[in-house]
Amino acid sequence: MSFKTFTKRNGEPWTPKYLLEISQELCIGCGRCFKVCTQNVLKMMGINEDGVQCDPLDDDDDSNRKIMVIDDAGNCIGCEACATVCGKKAQTHGAVPA
Ligand code: SF4
Ligand code: SF4
Repeated sequence: MSFKTFTKRNGEPWTPKYLLEISQELCIGCGRCFKVCTQNVLKMMGINEDGVQCDPLDDDDDSNRKIMVIDDAGNCIGCEACATVCGKKAQTHGAVPA
């Protein structure tokens, strides 16, 4: 299988590794990935004790915690900047078929 690959300025091939998944179990909602992503891929959400996503600003339920979710995967350029700042290794990146 061939993967979506581009050419760098120096002529070398570059195969982006796109953000494919964020583990709801590992993510602590620190927001570091959100701050480094320039492509509007990510969104902070709340998640309740039943694992249901909810309004992150809803503080009524003390059990709510924050998680990052992929809001617009199509905007991802596969730069992996978000991976470099995630201390929980909550993200999965990978090449995609051409
Ligand atoms: S790989 Fe780059 S563009 Fe994609 S979500 Fe992470 S920081 Fe944003
Ligand atoms: S940097 Fe990692 S732990 Fe922090 S919000 Fe992003 S995915 Fe979650």
